[in-house]
Amino acid sequence: INKKEKYEFQSETKQLLNLMIHSLYSNKEIFIRELISNASDAIDKMRFKLLSQKINNKNYKMRIRIIINKEERKIIISDNGIGMKKNEIINNLGVIASSGTRRFLESLPNNNINNNQLIGKFGVGFYSAFIVSDKVIVKTKHIDEINENNGIMWESSGKGNYFIKKINKIKNGTDVELYLKKEENQFLEEWKLREIINKYSDHISIPIEIQEYDKIKKNQSWKQINKAKALWTLNKSEIKEHEYKEFYQNITKDINEPLTWIHNKVEGIHEYISLLYIPSKLTWNILDQENKKNGLKLYVKKIYIMDDANQFLPNYLRFIKGILDTDNLPLNISREILQENHITTVLKTSLTKKVLKLIHLLSLEKNEKYKIFWKEFGLIFKEGIVEDIKNQERIASLLRFTSIKNNSKEQTLSLDQYINNMHEKQNKIYFLIADNYNTAITSPHLEIFYKNNIDVLLLSDKIDDWMMNYLIEFKGKKFQSINKIDQNSENLFNNSNKNIIITPEIEKFLNKIKTILKEKVQSVQLSTRLIKSPTILIADKNNISPQMSKLFIAAGQ
Ligand code: ADP
Ligand code: MG
Repeated sequence: INKKEKYEFQSETKQLLNLMIHSLYSNKEIFIRELISNASDAIDKMRFKLLSQKINNKNYKMRIRIIINKEERKIIISDNGIGMKKNEIINNLGVIASSGTRRFLESLPNNNINNNQLIGKFGVGFYSAFIVSDKVIVKTKHIDEINENNGIMWESSGKGNYFIKKINKIKNGTDVELYLKKEENQFLEEWKLREIINKYSDHISIPIEIQEYDKIKKNQSWKQINKAKALWTLNKSEIKEHEYKEFYQNITKDINEPLTWIHNKVEGIHEYISLLYIPSKLTWNILDQENKKNGLKLYVKKIYIMDDANQFLPNYLRFIKGILDTDNLPLNISREILQENHITTVLKTSLTKKVLKLIHLLSLEKNEKYKIFWKEFGLIFKEGIVEDIKNQERIASLLRFTSIKNNSKEQTLSLDQYINNMHEKQNKIYFLIADNYNTAITSPHLEIFYKNNIDVLLLSDKIDDWMMNYLIEFKGKKFQSINKIDQNSENLFNNSNKNIIITPEIEKFLNKIKTILKEKVQSVQLSTRLIKSPTILIADKNNISPQMSKLFIAAGQ
């Protein structure tokens, strides 16, 4: 006889569970969606395992089953997925920190548990089962466990501790049994469960079956209740906007809605389906260099292969989420092979175009949304100027800047707008790089530009200096840093000081300053471009900029 072992949840669990139950109570039915989504993940993992071990899976029918037991007042959500080993069940269900629940709670603004907008969104996790249950029992067996008696039972009433016991379980997979609270009888009704499943889980590509009593045959049989067709394989016209949104939230576990998306079925030599989303928020994992979670969910011939396939988009588009389903890659593809595959390169080029088009469309249609895009992802997107020379002009046209005429720190000006507003004699795009916006806007370099009513882009993001080394020209107009001497531009200015003669006194004065400053400067010259400030530091055309030299100094060079 196997003994029950008692374990404690970590100390904050109780509090987290309470918060969870209260914040989700008015949307309690989402527990079904959460458990089905876990079952579906487990089946995806199982499929992948069979594939990678080249096991013939023709006869292995993946399914999720819902069983209602009115006598015991329980419902069971059962899958024949990968299952869990003992240490996995402890790590996954015993530690809230690693579950979807934790992410959900952390994303509630100021832990505002009454925020209705957030409630009912995806990704609240396994513990949502406790909203409706007094007790939850999980019976599971991992596919790698061959012994019949190596199943594990996990049991908890969600109040601070849980129990684990070895059990007999013949088949791999997981059964989650919910012992419903007294007031939750509605979930014992088949129609109710069907309604919820249709509402939330219809796009799950695995059949969800419910047990039915056949009055004619007088036996129990399983009936599929969802379409079980992967959303991306449907035609655009068949998919509703909210389904696109829910699908996004389901695959990303992001509680926010996506900003926009693009769904394509590409035919020809390289056939693929892609569904690509721009999120509306920068997610933590983009900044987390350690465990990079960027990239797309990859499917080959509708079969799930891997998450975070980051080979299909360039680095500067790493904020894009979504799925790629292709018929052209082998099913047993590994990350390493993917990296070197020529099809990967072809797909990458094609998907990059799609995303740039999507961003372009966003910039045309929805001004407010584009502002969000730029605010969240502009910094990352700028890397594209350096990384993707082939698409540079397209990327450049999507950049947004602030300028002296912009009157605000917010970057909203496009290069096309800048060019449209150029002075008739002007043929360059002027910019100034500084450490921050305030330094930029108060720079004495700008005085002459103000006076002549010529706009200057103000660049103060860390990446700008680096970017501008690669951005030489846009639509035939050269970029010109106003920190650097440029004889050409001087002619543009309507400057009454222009013809000042350098008298011996001035000459003497300049020499004196040069002797005082010695090696600190290359030369001291009389300038005609200042209006209010007495002096200005100017870089030679060929010298690196002050910001770059700071970077080099910081890097110890
Ligand atoms: P998430 O799904 O976001 O990871 P959950 O709280 O829903 O968070 O689940 C926590 C973890 O428990 C899952 O990541 C998975 O490892 C494990 N798990 C939950 N349900 C199942 C299941 N039916 N089969 C296998 N593993 C599961
Ligand atoms: Mg989950």
